[in-house]
Amino acid sequence: MKTIIKNGKVITAGDTIFQDILIEDGIIKALGKNFSEEGCEVIDAEGTYILPGGIDPHTHLEMPFGGTVSSDDFYTGHKAAAFGGTTCHIDFALQTKGDSLTNGIRTWKEKAKDKAAIDYSFHIAVTDPTEETIEEIPAIVKEGVTSLKVFLAYKGVFQVDDTAFMQTMTKAAENGMLTMVHAENGDAIALKTKELLEEGKTDMKYHSEAHCEAIEAEAINRAVSFVEITKAPLYIVHIASGNGVEAVRKGRRKGLPVMGETCIQYLYITDDALDQPGFEGAKYICSPPPKKEEDKKAIWEGLTDKTIQTMATDHCPFWFDGTKEGRTPGKELGKGSWDKVPNGVPGIEDRYPLLWDGAVNTGIITPNRFVELTSTNPAKIFGLYPKKGTIAVGSDADIVIFDPEKKHTIEASTHHMNVDYNLYEGMTVTGWPQKVMVRGKLLVDGDDWLGEAGFGEFVARKTENEIL
Ligand SMILES: [Zn+2]
Repeated sequence: MKTIIKNGKVITAGDTIFQDILIEDGIIKALGKNFSEEGCEVIDAEGTYILPGGIDPHTHLEMPFGGTVSSDDFYTGHKAAAFGGTTCHIDFALQTKGDSLTNGIRTWKEKAKDKAAIDYSFHIAVTDPTEETIEEIPAIVKEGVTSLKVFLAYKGVFQVDDTAFMQTMTKAAENGMLTMVHAENGDAIALKTKELLEEGKTDMKYHSEAHCEAIEAEAINRAVSFVEITKAPLYIVHIASGNGVEAVRKGRRKGLPVMGETCIQYLYITDDALDQPGFEGAKYICSPPPKKEEDKKAIWEGLTDKTIQTMATDHCPFWFDGTKEGRTPGKELGKGSWDKVPNGVPGIEDRYPLLWDGAVNTGIITPNRFVELTSTNPAKIFGLYPKKGTIAVGSDADIVIFDPEKKHTIEASTHHMNVDYNLYEGMTVTGWPQKVMVRGKLLVDGDDWLGEAGFGEFVARKTENEIL
């Protein structure tokens, strides 16, 4: 099976070149011009950009949370991802308290295996960092899971203390594994939550107060200090605060191996969204929640000065109205009080075109930097490169044929995510994926879905994670 994509402008993190792509058996076989078209399927990509498929390094498909489960599974989430130009993602497998890391990974592999339509991998979330758990780390690396996550938030559920955090990141580093951290101060959140509820402050906007800027910034500063103490590399997930960005910047200027991720919602949404009449604000409840205008501005700056390495989504959708037939319980669980609202927002389909529209069309970043943030850096940091994350000879043919002129209005009624609202409802973007392929197989062709459950493969990752 051979395919040629011709006449497109190929954009990678390093180059922008007019060249044709020869694909054979799912792999990029050659780049150049004037390939023999005999026996090949030929795609004329005149007028388009050819980009590496997006890699979302932070998602939660079919994730249990607060008595329900996120509404996209490994099929619906993958279909939505593909329509939005994302061809691979790294989801979080959770360790169950009292159980092993290996079993956590096994459970998530089981969820994904028959449903997957795009390629995927897993991080393991360490929720019970006993001595036994920490000793299990080398075995996890052999499974191709080369990154783990700890939580400084969710007191009494996922939260680890500072001792366990430092021990875990040290052990991980010794085994070539990268530690990721959800950096919000869980003790402070628990205390603020208790106080707010005692005062009868149950409106949605109080979620922002319980997760205020200082609560995130404190934890990020602390986490960066632990990098200095342990010398272990650290990746800070979903940075939403200006002082958090600044802490990472300072750490990097000292030469510390610390990296930062942000999510697309923090570029577009502020805490005003939670402060709306009625229950509307629940749609935007996630942890950390979006913050002030000045934080948003600081995150944009972090993207341009390279303090931030990756653009993710933290995709974790819940129905706004989960009471309808066939739906899992959703945001309505929190109708009486913000603290009962399942935490998470949808975004896996929106990330790639939204960043293009907001950052490339406006000239804030170059198309090459766009590729870096959405694909190449996640691949390099998490040991997927150069199999994924670029267009090069020998790489998987995970390709987006992107129409930079196409206008698309984002609407819940037409998006492919299995959720009844969209954070960007009614927004029109310029630039949209026209064709999307994974390992040479066309999954999306215009509005048509050609993908299938079971095609997506688990990707075992390498330990040569690059520190960027
Ligand atoms: Zn997350």
